[in-house]
Amino acid sequence: MSNATKLIHSIPVDPLTGSISVPIYQTSTFIQEAPGQNKGYDYARSDNPTRAALEKIIAELEHGVAASAFASGLAAIDAVVKLLESGDEILAVDDIYGGAFRLFTHIYAKFGIKVKYVDTTDVVNVLDAINSKTKLVWLETPTNPTLKISDIAAIAGIAKQNGALLCVDNTFASPALQQPILLGADIIVHSATKYLGGHSDLIAGLVVTKTKELGDKIKFIQNASGAVLSPYDSWLVIRGVETLYLRVKEHSRNAQIVAEYLQTHPAIDKVYYPGLTTHINHDIAAKQQSGFGGIVSFTLKEDTELAAKNVVCNTKLFKLAESLGGVKSLLCHPATMTHKSIPVEKRLAAGVKDSLIRLSVGLEDANDLVKDISQALGKINSVAEKIAAFQ
Ligand SMILES: *Cc1c(COP(=O)(O)O)cnc(C)c1O
Repeated sequence: MSNATKLIHSIPVDPLTGSISVPIYQTSTFIQEAPGQNKGYDYARSDNPTRAALEKIIAELEHGVAASAFASGLAAIDAVVKLLESGDEILAVDDIYGGAFRLFTHIYAKFGIKVKYVDTTDVVNVLDAINSKTKLVWLETPTNPTLKISDIAAIAGIAKQNGALLCVDNTFASPALQQPILLGADIIVHSATKYLGGHSDLIAGLVVTKTKELGDKIKFIQNASGAVLSPYDSWLVIRGVETLYLRVKEHSRNAQIVAEYLQTHPAIDKVYYPGLTTHINHDIAAKQQSGFGGIVSFTLKEDTELAAKNVVCNTKLFKLAESLGGVKSLLCHPATMTHKSIPVEKRLAAGVKDSLIRLSVGLEDANDLVKDISQALGKINSVAEKIAAFQ
């Protein structure tokens, strides 16, 4: 049976009524027959049937044994860091999601957890940086926004040998393209806000674990800390994942067309897309992913903030907004938007130049998207009126 069929039919039918859609259990508590005697649920922070249905679907989809659904991707990341103790170290990919950088550096540093950032595209850097204090290796692959690809299987081997857990933020690839647990990861996190939800209408996060023991620890942390996903938003994510394979396939197809077009454009300096044979570690992406995803980034020959703003303020179909993975195409200027909390030297070292633009290629017709980018690129040197409003 194909993965898409399996996924669609992993969504349960309600045994009570036959409802083909998972019921939304909008409740805070559950009546007990006697103290401690219940139907498996006692209080909705600890567990809720709608949330539990989502968690089971995602655990299966990612080949894990347990999942927990959180109020945001960052709440999911936060729960994983809480597995650590003061004195432990995290070894993380340098091109990390800005919010994860902020959480690690500005919150957990205070509690004695150290983070080392390295370029994980070369496993030698991981071997050099890992030490006896490293308890967690943190990967994103592809990364945001330069689509860096790291070899999950090779790094899983290094982490295991060192007694560290490997966590992969699988937001960009989504389980439709990449299954990190099958490649040796211990934990997967998701911002379900992106491809899993898929419609830009919610904020949600997930943690999936390879073992029940880790799953129980995450559940304990979730119940103790409280950042649970609401029943309604759990239902929306279930509704979104029904079409995950269909959407991600089309996002990838459109993104490949847009990336190949950008590569031929005279104003473009560099295109970042794992589906291009020129992309660093394209061969690893081709090996560990079954498609290359919907995110494309590029820099301009005129590497200035103004040139980039002239492009992002002049597209008509690509809307200027943070976030990604929805039906509508979006674009953003990481240097002044998603990555503005990262110090300039660190940002530039990670390849996030002043003119870098990130596209979340949506589900519109690819030709229309190419035309839109093309006309906006024609405005690089204009002094756009919109700039004033943008600043
Ligand atoms: C958006 C995102 C997050 C954070 O998720 P939220 O749902 O916004 O909290 C984490 N990792 C990656 C790769 C993301 O794109």
